Amino acid sequence: MGRKFVVGGNWKMNGDKNQINEIINNLKKGPLDPNVEVIIGVPAIYLSYVQSIVPDNINVAAQNCWKVAKGAFTGEISPAMIKDVGASWVILGHSERRTIFGEKDDLIAEKVAHALESGLKVIACIGETLEERESGKTEEVVFRQTKALLPAIGNNWDKVVLAYEPVWAIGTGKTASPAQAQEVHASLRNWLAKNASQEVADSVRIQYGGSVTGSSCKELGACPDIDGFLVGGASLKPEFVEIINATS
Ligand code: PEP
Repeated sequence: MGRKFVVGGNWKMNGDKNQINEIINNLKKGPLDPNVEVIIGVPAIYLSYVQSIVPDNINVAAQNCWKVAKGAFTGEISPAMIKDVGASWVILGHSERRTIFGEKDDLIAEKVAHALESGLKVIACIGETLEERESGKTEEVVFRQTKALLPAIGNNWDKVVLAYEPVWAIGTGKTASPAQAQEVHASLRNWLAKNASQEVADSVRIQYGGSVTGSSCKELGACPDIDGFLVGGASLKPEFVEIINATS
């Protein structure tokens, strides 16, 4: 099937120029497995700066964008602007956008559609809360969130990475077990075979995100349906290199 492992770092609202220089120098030193695609999600204000200092083997992502190219949307940035400063990816639908900023499935779908139309690649995040998991609704939630994305993605699945991030595992230090993560990834792939196509199910890369660390990455990365990680806290630390190299 040949799905290239893809590891994203989500810096969230962290970092200043000094820390950014340290992170990039550490990534430059690597060495990074050349078979892994690396994407770093940077605060909007530093996109241009980071793009100007990263080596070619690292891609830069925004952590959010709005759903039209320009206009009276104070405080927002558009895919056109992200592309204009040389970045090529955007993270959309992160659980912090969903829970803190109230973004719903349909808004996220509109953002995904516009980002793809504008030529950006998208990491689209999905995942259940603890309450939803404990009431047996994990699949229902993950399938609902993914269903909303289907018309937005259309024929652009090759420009999309899905990030399965159980909300209870994000920033909590409580990583999903490899078995828990693999189970959801496999059932999502199965759902995609029925609701998108077998080709999409076989080719789309599904990252796991939620408290991934240097010590949990190898076992998670060895699961057949886990094609990479989206990493928050640990992407700010030197161990991010170890996580990138989890499968080597
Ligand atoms: C994230 O922000 O997407 C994330 C998974 O964070 P953390 O690794 O800190 O749990």
